[in-house]
Amino acid sequence: MATKATKAATGTNRGAADYDAIIVGGGHNGLVAAAYLARSGARTLVLEARNKTGGAATTEAPWPDAPDFKVTRLSYVMSLLPPTIINDLQLARHGYKIFPMGPYYQAFPEGGSIKLYADDAQRNHVEISKWSKKDADAMPRWDAWLAGLAEVLGPLLLTVPPNLGSHKPKDLKETLRLAWRHKNLDVRTIADVTRLMTMSIADLLDDWFESPQVKGALAVNGVIGTWAGPYEPGTAYVMAHHSIGDVGDGHLGNWGFQEGGMGAVADAIASAARENGAEIRTGARVDQILLKDGRAAGVVLDNGQQLTAKVVVTSLHPRTAFLAHVGRENLPDDFVQDIEHWKTRSGVVKINLALAELPDFTADPGTSLQEHHTGSVEMAPTMPYIERAFQEARDGKPATRPFSDGVIPTAFDKTLVPDGYHIMSLFTQWVPSDWSEQPHTEELQAYADRMIDCYNEVAPNFKSSILHRDVVGPYEMEHDYGLIGGNIFHGELSLEQLFHMRPAPGFADYRTPVPGLYYASSATHAGGGVCGIPGMQAARAAIADRRKVARRR
Ligand SMILES: Cc1cc2nc3c(=O)[nH]c(=O)nc-3n(C[C@H](O)[C@H](O)[C@H](O)COP(=O)(O)OP(=O)(O)OC[C@H]3O[C@@H](n4cnc5c(N)ncnc54)[C@H](O)[C@@H]3O)c2cc1C
Repeated sequence: MATKATKAATGTNRGAADYDAIIVGGGHNGLVAAAYLARSGARTLVLEARNKTGGAATTEAPWPDAPDFKVTRLSYVMSLLPPTIINDLQLARHGYKIFPMGPYYQAFPEGGSIKLYADDAQRNHVEISKWSKKDADAMPRWDAWLAGLAEVLGPLLLTVPPNLGSHKPKDLKETLRLAWRHKNLDVRTIADVTRLMTMSIADLLDDWFESPQVKGALAVNGVIGTWAGPYEPGTAYVMAHHSIGDVGDGHLGNWGFQEGGMGAVADAIASAARENGAEIRTGARVDQILLKDGRAAGVVLDNGQQLTAKVVVTSLHPRTAFLAHVGRENLPDDFVQDIEHWKTRSGVVKINLALAELPDFTADPGTSLQEHHTGSVEMAPTMPYIERAFQEARDGKPATRPFSDGVIPTAFDKTLVPDGYHIMSLFTQWVPSDWSEQPHTEELQAYADRMIDCYNEVAPNFKSSILHRDVVGPYEMEHDYGLIGGNIFHGELSLEQLFHMRPAPGFADYRTPVPGLYYASSATHAGGGVCGIPGMQAARAAIADRRKVARRR
C-alpha cells in the first residue's frame, strides 16, 4: 500500500535531488550536523520551524518594553561540547567564548552558607569544615573517585554504541572492540561503575558524607532535568553525566557561560555551517519525511513544498521525527513500540529575571559583585528539600518550595543587559509532568512567586530587585520549542534510555530503520545537553555511508 509519504515522493518527478543533505531542525545538533556535512562537500540545507535557529540553545529578549535585556531563555551553561567539535568547526573564530563559572553557592534558610569550588581542594576543605570535619576530609577522596569514573565514562560519550545482541559480524566486531578497549578495568572499577549506574544519588552520598548541607550540594546534579527525586535509582548516573566535563578528547574544564548567552553558541555553529556552504532556512516547518523505495528521499514542508535529498538528518524529538514525520506504517513494529514507550517527562520550569541589583545574601552581605554571585546560586539546601518538591509534583501538585539551579551570567557577560543591571536564570523543578498538556499560566506564576520567596528568605533584597520576569513552563517548551513533555533532553536520562538503548535498541548508531535517514537529536547517545555530539556522529554516519556508496560505484 502506498503511504502518504511514498505517494508524495512519487509526485516529485525530479531527476536530480535538490540537495545532497537536508537537516530537519536548526537546534545546535542540527547545525553541527549541517556544518560537518557541508564541510564534507555535501550541498546541505537546514530547515528550522521557528524564526530563529538554536532550539533550546537560544538567547531572546522576552520583554517588549525592555528590549535591551536578553536572557538565555532555556539552557544556560556549557560543559560538554568536545574540543573536537570546537576545533573542527573553528568555533572560537565564529564567536564561541566561554567564561568559566565561579563556585557552587548555597545560602541556608536557617543561616550560613557553603561554597564549593571545582578546582580548589583547600578552600573546599575550609568551606565544608563549617558543616562537618568528616565530610571535609572525605571530599578529596570523593573528587578522586569521581575523576576515576569520569575517565571511564567520559570517552564513552564519544563512542558510537555497538548493537548489543546482534549476531552480525560487523556488530560483533564493534562489541568486541568496546570490550577490548576496557580490558584493563579491574573488579573495583567495574563495581564502582555498576554502583553509579544503579544507585540513587541519595544512597550514594549517604555512603560518603554525613552533613545534610554537603549532601544537598552534591545531589543537585543528580536530578537536573529528571523526572525523579534524589532517592530514585539511576540518579547517581545523572549526577555523573552532569559532572564529567571531559569527554576524553581534551580537558574541558568547568562549566561556563557563553558570551551572548546560549544562543551565541548556536550562532557560532550556524556561522561555521554557512561558511562551509550550508544553507539555513528559518520559518520552514517540516511536516513529513519523504520516502522513495523505502529510502529517505527528502521532506515536505507544512506549506506543501517538497525538497529532495538522498540524505536526511532529523534532529527532532523522536515522537515527532519518527511517529509524525516518517509514520508508523513505514517503520518496524518493534521500533514504533520503543518510540511510543519513550519516557519524556520532566516538570521543569525556567524562570528568567531582570534584576536592578545583585542578591544581597544575609550570610554573605553586599550587592556589589562577589565570588558567590559568579557560579551557581542554588536553592536546594538538603536532599529531603529536593525530594519533597518531587513528591508533591508526582502527587499532581506543583512544588510548594521548588528547588532551583540559579545562575547570574551577567556577573561576567556585559552583552546581555544595560550597564549596572543583571540577569538571573533559575532552572527550577518540579511541576506535575502533565503540565505539558495545558498552559497552567496562573499556577506557573504562583509557582514562580514561591520560588522567588525562597530566595528572598536568604537574600531579602531579592524580590524588590526584580524588574521583569519570564516564566517558561513545560507547555511552552513543548508547543513553542518542540520539547515533547517539556523534557529538556528530548527524553529522560533514565538507565533504560541510555547508550545502546538511546533512542531504541538496534538504532543507537545515529542511523534509523529508514536507509538514508539519520538521527541527530539529544535523544541519541551523548545527548542531552548542548554537546553537539549527536549532530557530529549523525553527520559522520551519513558521510561514511555516502563514501561507501561512492566507492561501490
Ligand atoms: C530549560 C532548559 C534548560 C537546559 N539547560 C541546559 C544547560 O544549562 N546546559 C546544557 O548543556 N543543556 C541544557 N539543556 C538541554 C539542551 O538545551 C538540549 O539538550 C539541547 O539544546 C537540544 O539540542 P538539539 O539540537 O538536540 O534539539 P533542539 O534544541 O530541541 O532543536 C530542535 C530544533 O528543531 C526545530 N523543530 C521542531 N519541529 C520542527 C519541524 N517540524 N520542522 C523544522 N524544525 C523543527 C525546533 O524549533 C528546534 O530549533 C536545557 C534544556 C532546557 C529546555
